[in-house]
Amino acid sequence: MPQYHQFDALVIGAGGAGLMAALYASKSVNTAVISKLYPTRSHTGTAQGGISAALGNLEEDHWEWHAYDTIKGGDFLCDQDAVDIMCREAIDAVIDLEHMGLPFDRTPDGKISQRRFGGHTNNITKKPVMRACHAADRTGHMILQTLYQNCIKNNVKFFDEFQVLDLLIEDGRCNGAVAVQLATGEIHVFHSKATLIATGGFGKMWKVTSNAHSLTGDLPATILRRGLPLEDMEFFQFHPTGVYKLGILLSEAARGEGAVFINGKGERFMARYMPTLKDLAPRDICSRYIYKEIREGRGIDGKDYVYLDFRPEVINRYFEEDGNPKRVDAHYLETRLPDIIEFARVYQGIDPIKEPVPIQPTAHYAMGGIPTNNDTEVLMDETGRIVEGLYAAGEVACVSVHGANRLGTNSLVDLVVFGKRGGLRMAEYARSASFRPINHDAAARKAQSELDALRNNDGTERPSAIRKALQQTMDDHVGVYRTGSGLEEAIDTIHELQERFKRVRVEDKSYRWNTDLMETWELGNLLALAEVTAFSALWRQESRGAHYREDYPERDDVNFLRHSMVWKNGKLEIRSKPVRITRIPPQERKY
Ligand SMILES: Cc1cc2nc3c(=O)[nH]c(=O)nc-3n(C[C@H](O)[C@H](O)[C@H](O)COP(=O)(O)OP(=O)(O)OC[C@H]3O[C@@H](n4cnc5c(N)ncnc54)[C@H](O)[C@@H]3O)c2cc1C
Repeated sequence: MPQYHQFDALVIGAGGAGLMAALYASKSVNTAVISKLYPTRSHTGTAQGGISAALGNLEEDHWEWHAYDTIKGGDFLCDQDAVDIMCREAIDAVIDLEHMGLPFDRTPDGKISQRRFGGHTNNITKKPVMRACHAADRTGHMILQTLYQNCIKNNVKFFDEFQVLDLLIEDGRCNGAVAVQLATGEIHVFHSKATLIATGGFGKMWKVTSNAHSLTGDLPATILRRGLPLEDMEFFQFHPTGVYKLGILLSEAARGEGAVFINGKGERFMARYMPTLKDLAPRDICSRYIYKEIREGRGIDGKDYVYLDFRPEVINRYFEEDGNPKRVDAHYLETRLPDIIEFARVYQGIDPIKEPVPIQPTAHYAMGGIPTNNDTEVLMDETGRIVEGLYAAGEVACVSVHGANRLGTNSLVDLVVFGKRGGLRMAEYARSASFRPINHDAAARKAQSELDALRNNDGTERPSAIRKALQQTMDDHVGVYRTGSGLEEAIDTIHELQERFKRVRVEDKSYRWNTDLMETWELGNLLALAEVTAFSALWRQESRGAHYREDYPERDDVNFLRHSMVWKNGKLEIRSKPVRITRIPPQERKY
C-alpha cells in the first residue's frame, strides 16, 4: 500500500525559491516541502556573488535603473511588468532576509555592503554601479541556511530525499504529486490543494557546466509529459568564467572586485569590444567574445581558453587606467572572494593572487522553463489560461524576468521575490479551495509500474554512454554559437539517443538508495529537455541574448520579439506569444 499524505500547500524543491514559498505559505496554511536532496544541499547554496537590490547604500541607485538594466541585459525579451515587480520588491526582500538573520557583509557604517556586477549600471553615467548585496562569496549558502532555519521555526513539514516522479493533474487542476522515498523505494502520494514547483535548473544536459549533479529537469520534463508547454527553452546562459575543462564556476564577483579577461597576447580584450563596461559587460556578450578571441587564434598559447586575472597588481593597474580610485591587496581579495580563490587553488593548483587563472565559458542558467504569470500560476497555453492549483517559481519558472539573458545576481532576487509571491498566492488559494477527490492507489500504481519498467528493462544500453553522447552533442551544437545545420544534427542525435534509451539497462534492481535507477530516470528527463531546447533554437532564426545563430547574426524584432512555447504531444509543436513591453522600447544593446 502506498503511503498517503495531505497538505494544503505542497512545495517541490527546497532551494531558495521553494523555501521562501514554504515560509510564506506556512504563515497561514498547512505546508510541506518535498526535496530529492537534503534541503541545504540545494544548488542555491553554491551561489557565490550576491543578490542585487537598488538599496543605494554606497552610491546613488534606483529600482527603475535596476529594471532598465535587467531589460537591456535580457535583450528586450523580458516581460517588463514582471521585471518592475522584481526590481521594486527586491529592496524589501533583501531587508526581509536581513531581519530573518542573514549575515550580510557590512559597510564601515553598518549598512549592507554592495559590489559591482556585470550589466548593472548607473543609468546616467552608464558606469558600473554597486548593487549586489553579499555575504563574502557565500551569499547563496547564507540565504539557504537562513530560510531553512526560518521554515523549521514555522513548522514546515519536510520530506527530505523524496524524489517527485509525477504531478496529479486532472481536468486542468493540480491535486498534488507522487514521489519515491529514496531510502526505501516506497511510493508516497501527496494530496494537496496548491502545489508549487521550485526544482531549479537543468544544466546537466551539457558536459561543461557549473550546475550540480542533481539539476536534471525532472519537473519540467513531467510538465511536458502532462501535455503542458515549456517557454523560451532556447535561451540558456553560458557563464564566461568556468574553471577550464571542469566548468566549476568562478563567480563574476571576481570581476566585480576588479578582475579582467586577458587573451594570449596579454591584452585586456573586452576593452576593445565594450569600451564602457569592459569586463563587466553582461555574460552572453563576454562568453561570445571569449570564443571569438579563441577562434581567431588569441587563446592562451593558441589553445581554447583565456585568463581571468585577479592578481592585485593587475587589478590596481587597470583601476588606475579606468580612473577608479579604489585599490586592492591580497588580504582584501582573500576576504571578499575566499571560496573562488580556494577553488582555483584546489581544482587547478593555481594561486590566483600570484598567477592568472585559465577559464572557459560554462553552461550555467536556464532563462526558459515552466511558463507562469506574475503570481507564479502555471500557464496552460499562450493565451494565459492557468492550471488551477499549480505554481512555479525560481530558476525552473519562466515569468519572464530574465528574457534572453539573465544579469548576474538577478536569480537570487527572482527566487526570493517570486518565491514569496508564490507562497502567499498558494495560501490564499488553499484557504478558499477544497480538496478534490483523487484515486491515490491508481496514481501510486502508475508511478510504481513506470519505475519498475525501467528497473527491469532487459536492454543492453548503458545510461552513462547515452549521457556522455548527449552532453557532447549539446556542447558541440547547442552552445554559445549555433547554426541551423548544427542544430538539426543535434536533434537527429537526440532522437537516436531517445531510441537507445528505450533499450537502457539498469544494473541495480534493488529498492533502497537505487541511484543507478534514479539517475537513469533523470537521463530520460534530460533527453526530453535537450530535444525541446534544440528544437526551439532551430525555430528562432535570429540572434538575441544568449542565443546566437551564426546563420542569423542579427536580432529580428519584426519576427522574433516573441516568447516561444513548445508542447510535446507525440511530436513537438511550437507556438509563440508577444513580449509585454510597458515602458522601455527595444533598442540597440551597447555597453
Ligand atoms: C555555481 C553557481 C553559482 C551561482 N551564483 C549566483 C549568484 O551569485 N547570484 C545569483 O543571483 N544567482 C547565482 N546562481 C544561480 C542561482 O543560484 C540559481 O538559479 C538558484 O539558486 C536556483 O534556485 P532554485 O530555488 O530555483 O533551485 P535550487 O536551489 O537548484 O533547488 C532545487 C531544489 O529542487 C529539488 N528537486 C529537484 N528535482 C526534484 C524532484 N524530482 N523531486 C524532489 N525535489 C527535487 C532539489 O532537491 C532542490 O532542493 C548560481 C548558480 C550556480 C550553479
